[in-house]
Amino acid sequence: MQYAKKLWICWMCLPFLGACQVTQPQPAASQKQMPWIHISEGDTMWRIQKSDSEWRQILTDFEYYVLREKGTERAFTGEYWNWKQKGTYLCRACGLPLFQSDTKYDSGTGWPSFFQPINEWCVAEQVDTSYGMVRTEVLCARCDGHLGHVFPDGPPPTGLRYCINSVSLRFVPASK
Ligand SMILES: [Zn+2]
Repeated sequence: MQYAKKLWICWMCLPFLGACQVTQPQPAASQKQMPWIHISEGDTMWRIQKSDSEWRQILTDFEYYVLREKGTERAFTGEYWNWKQKGTYLCRACGLPLFQSDTKYDSGTGWPSFFQPINEWCVAEQVDTSYGMVRTEVLCARCDGHLGHVFPDGPPPTGLRYCINSVSLRFVPASK
């Protein structure tokens, strides 16, 4: 009798056990890109995420090629490689301020070159192994737009060379 009772309880439990085992697979937190960027304690900035077709509506074909498909403009052809005005360079895709003219220098490469970004969070970096090279790609931290690459052969005080496509930037002159 006692055995039958136990068996009955087990049968009753089975549907619930089954229900517990049916769980939706959750992506690991590390695989998901957070929708915001940490700036400082208690200060965050929302990322800008658009579909490819939305970016195509905003950007010209060449801007899309460089910013979204990680293309590169030819050296000495961009708008800003020899630009010497005082002001701020924004991300051409989302308008985030990225570089100041007082950190721009003539690297002789034919691309706008800076020794540091406006702050430590406005650009993101990731390893780029394309073309058989290991380089560090620089992206806009807010919209993930491709900007260029950073190399360890820049001038003081950082020793870094942010080699950026003109077409990824939009210059805004300093107000007088
Ligand atoms: Zn951007």
